[in-house]
Amino acid sequence: MKRYSAFAIAKEALRDHTGWDRAWRRATPKKRYDVVIVGAGGHGLATAYYLGKNFGITNVAVLEKGWLGGGNTGRNTTIIRSNYLQDPSAAIYEKSRSLYETMSQDLNYNVMFSPRGVMMLAQTEHEVRGFKRTAHANALQGVVTEFISPARVKQLVPIINIDGPRYPVLGALWQARAGTARHDAVAWGYARACSDMGMDIIQKCEVTGVKSEDGRVTGVSTTQGDIACDKLGLVVAGHSGALADMAGFRLPIESVALQALVSEPIKPCMDVVVMANTVHGYLSQSDKGEMVIGGGTDGFNSYTQRGSFHHIEETVRALIETFPMISRLKMLRQWGGIVDITGDRSPILSKTPLGGCFINCGWGTGGFKAIPGSGWAMAELMARGRSPLTDAFGLNRFREGRFIDESVAAGVAH
Ligand SMILES: Cc1cc2nc3c(=O)[nH]c(=O)nc-3n(C[C@H](O)[C@H](O)[C@H](O)COP(=O)(O)OP(=O)(O)OC[C@H]3O[C@@H](n4cnc5c(N)ncnc54)[C@H](O)[C@@H]3O)c2cc1C
Repeated sequence: MKRYSAFAIAKEALRDHTGWDRAWRRATPKKRYDVVIVGAGGHGLATAYYLGKNFGITNVAVLEKGWLGGGNTGRNTTIIRSNYLQDPSAAIYEKSRSLYETMSQDLNYNVMFSPRGVMMLAQTEHEVRGFKRTAHANALQGVVTEFISPARVKQLVPIINIDGPRYPVLGALWQARAGTARHDAVAWGYARACSDMGMDIIQKCEVTGVKSEDGRVTGVSTTQGDIACDKLGLVVAGHSGALADMAGFRLPIESVALQALVSEPIKPCMDVVVMANTVHGYLSQSDKGEMVIGGGTDGFNSYTQRGSFHHIEETVRALIETFPMISRLKMLRQWGGIVDITGDRSPILSKTPLGGCFINCGWGTGGFKAIPGSGWAMAELMARGRSPLTDAFGLNRFREGRFIDESVAAGVAH
């Protein structure tokens, strides 16, 4: 595949851009693959990529019922951070954050990683204590974060109202090398690299059944026919319960709608990401100038990709207290996704009761940041049967009571 470079752009400009290859091949399913991955979101594509890159396994198909990246990967607000409390979480999220640092070079695809810094505001004494505790845990885990004062918050975010009427800003947990990336580009970059390794990415191919013999997976039924495989990875976020049902096991997962919105574009006014857990909202400014706004999940289970209107109202009302200037902005558009949430707010990367079948889900409201780390770890789990990064995230933790409680780190989502 042709390398993307300044030289290639200049050369193509001289011949009306007629020489570019397709970013990924349009593939039709073969009868058999070594590995089939269900779901061409970021996690599925990253799993396929690291199976090829780290383990030389390239007879792989990624099956997608819609279009590539059309699930939560193309719908999220792109916050990347690794300031989690528990050791196993910090390990996988920090691995992921560090892979984001070099992803554009690794994939030869500009994913626009922008380590602009993420702050989580402390607006109650309880949060001050919680975030200080996380900062200490992060220091032990090798994750660089610090607890900063209200004055420093104001210096970093001049548009903030630190003396809010209900919830004044008392400080913040600050991770300077956290930030954002272009979500579509992450999916497209992985897809292009997988296709270049000879893998098949098959869109409009819904998996409708999982086939097995003697307790071991043998393949899948799809809307494009049956496909045999030795190993199967289920990486379908909000649809994980449905796929697990096809494979004959149950998951401790709930699917709920999470939504976000953007304002009309305005001049640059904020160059960091701010999360406000107490009032429950968060804010960043996209490269196009839109203010990107998100809040919490709907309070009930559903498979709609919309989300309810009162939630937008609540999120905006909450953020106006801390950012009064946004009251003068018009909303440009709003969208939603179906997120997969576990009881301890931590993901599941695991073998399953069906031999040869693996599952990667439960990233809930905050899995965009985890895409490269999750793909790296899931590939190792599928290729070798275990990965140090996934050991703590097995399905059996729910039976054995070894929860990885991240309800504080994941409290506001993202
Ligand atoms: C509004 C919103 C804001 C968010 N903000 C952030 C954020 O700021 N930071 C962050 O880290 N995370 C965020 N997230 C969470 C993040 O988007 C997800 O955790 C992550 O994208 C999940 O990726 P995935 O690859 O597992 O799932 P997806 O991208 O959803 O991919 C799963 C794919 O599986 C496909 N599929 C489902 N069933 C089948 C089937 N039967 N056959 C074939 N294919 C199937 C789907 O079509 C889909 O494309 C947000 C999510 C939402 C909705």
